[in-house]
Amino acid sequence: MSQTFDAVVIGGGHAGIEAARAIAASGHSVALVSMDVKKLGAMSCNPAIGGVAKSHLVAEVDALGGLMGFVADSAGIQSRRLNMNRGPAVRSTRIQCDKDRYVRTMADEVRSVQGLTILQAEVQSMKNVRTKWILRTATAEEIECRAIVVTTGTFMRGLMFCGDDRKEGGRVGDAASKQLSQSIMDIGHKLTRLKTGTPARLNAKTINFENLEKQWGDPELRRFSWREPREKLPQLSCYMTYTNERTHDVIRANFHKSPLFSGDIVGLGPRYCPSIEDKVKRFADRSRHQIFLEPEGLDTISIYPNGMSTSLPPDTQLEFFRTIAGLEAVELLRPGYAVEYDTIDPTDLMPSFMSKNAQGLFFAGQVNRTSGYEEAASQGLWAGLNVSLFLKDKPMLKPDRSRSYMETLVDDLTAKGTAEPYRMFTSRSEYRLLLREDNAMERLIGLGVSLGVVSEFHVKHYEELCSEIDKGRKHLESHRIRVNKDKVISMMEYLKRPEVTWESLGQNISVSDRAVEILEVEAKYEGYLGRQELELSALAKLKASSLDPNFNIDLVPSLSREVVEKYKLAKPATVHELSEISGMPPTAVLLIAKAAARSRGIQGLTRDVSHETK
Ligand code: FAD
Repeated sequence: MSQTFDAVVIGGGHAGIEAARAIAASGHSVALVSMDVKKLGAMSCNPAIGGVAKSHLVAEVDALGGLMGFVADSAGIQSRRLNMNRGPAVRSTRIQCDKDRYVRTMADEVRSVQGLTILQAEVQSMKNVRTKWILRTATAEEIECRAIVVTTGTFMRGLMFCGDDRKEGGRVGDAASKQLSQSIMDIGHKLTRLKTGTPARLNAKTINFENLEKQWGDPELRRFSWREPREKLPQLSCYMTYTNERTHDVIRANFHKSPLFSGDIVGLGPRYCPSIEDKVKRFADRSRHQIFLEPEGLDTISIYPNGMSTSLPPDTQLEFFRTIAGLEAVELLRPGYAVEYDTIDPTDLMPSFMSKNAQGLFFAGQVNRTSGYEEAASQGLWAGLNVSLFLKDKPMLKPDRSRSYMETLVDDLTAKGTAEPYRMFTSRSEYRLLLREDNAMERLIGLGVSLGVVSEFHVKHYEELCSEIDKGRKHLESHRIRVNKDKVISMMEYLKRPEVTWESLGQNISVSDRAVEILEVEAKYEGYLGRQELELSALAKLKASSLDPNFNIDLVPSLSREVVEKYKLAKPATVHELSEISGMPPTAVLLIAKAAARSRGIQGLTRDVSHETK
């Protein structure tokens, strides 16, 4: 039996969903094939969407009509805006979700997309016959299409580790995808193993919350999407506790039982989500590590202990948890584990995410060596947009780093590659002051409209928002305020002052909260944007200069361990080479280049540059 679609997306995770929706929205028939259709968009690890820089990706996905932000809003049981006392560029929304409701809402949303067919199957092989692809499933069914997006996440030859236990699987409760890797290798892609891990889930009924510090979300509900959430759920508190020396002693005494240290796990893990055994080993001087106890939903007793990912044996996990305040009598609902899986080298992909080896074959998500739901969703969307252009025989998109974090991610992956799971940070963008969560729609709606992936309602909403902002701006510009005996300035000018807010102006016109937020950022941000321009021109000036091989990177303050390690490994001869190192943030390039210039005494250049970037 054979079915035919314009495109097939393999995988119903965060990447697959956004890819399939974008392809369908642009008028093509698409099949979303997943091994278990009851788990569309399942959160394999932590129960939250967003956080610093990740929320920017979610806002961008939403601005292009994607589903992640709306579904997170609708399943939210705690919402917060992080970094509110810092600049708008790093302000980020984080929404903790009810995991089951997230999946249920996502399934409803995906089912309602016209032109999208959901199929439950394991794709085992892909064969290219002239301009067509033929996919074969585990039940010997064939699906024909012109384009494929592979979004297999942690599933390809997935192997799960817990102490000395090894099991095949993509995540707990899910089988591995064992055959597809061969087809990908036959096309000429080299596969590399990476790993990730998750903590145990704890039984809330066995936790003594009484003396633990509570952490509530913000009093007002935060959200990602322009769409009203389906429902507003009751909000829950998280709790904080800490590991201690006893916990670390148990972990140290059992280092030898960790597959991470025995050499059984060969894949590199995410640098910024290390396991607890890794943290105890690497930061031996730390007497405690913070743990957030996060409820996984409204109707479940499952608690996610954020910060405690591990692959130590279950009895060791229980032993170390019971040394922790509040967890003295804790029971595990299931132990933590690590999973190792196949990834492709993203430099084998074109900037559109199409394989350099095979027309019509695209890859997106964790299989491209990233980590995180949000990174996966934005890649899926990017692949989906390009598939729709490919199907129309139109030129595909080239990433524009100044337009979005999504495109920064795509450019970093395809131009520089990555040896370890890549996660997004605001420091990865040289345009970080421009790329804010609040202006994602303004940056991307034009692209969405031109590709036909945003709805009429979405555009109407944006137009209404623009006219609200316009109304507010005109009001502020035309009303004046006396700031002292001799000086009268416009309210817009007055709003630029850090201590002044829209609310404190006490204006009697109704403008939506969203428009107010944008107006405030616009007023206060002018100066910062000028600074960014200067930073960019300073960086451009320094690119041609060479780096002294004896330059001591350890003397440069404020650099992360990752930056120092990568510098020492690559030994760049020029600032340009430095900027080409995978995972080297532009902010670090500028810091290093300035310090190197100073140490060589190129005073004129140094003075200019440091003056410009103040
Ligand atoms: P996934 O969400 O993994 O989805 C893959 C989809 O592909 C699934 O629907 C699967 O059924 C389908 N599939 C695979 N092969 C086939 C096939 N042959 N045929 C049909 N369907 C197929 N991220 C973090 O940021 N921090 C963490 O600490 C973290 N820890 C994690 C721990 C574990 C144990 C796991 C499993 C994941 C963890 N993640 C973590 C990663 C996070 O889950 C992923 O980043 C995210 O889910 C990737 O989305 P994706 O769409 O690429 O793939």
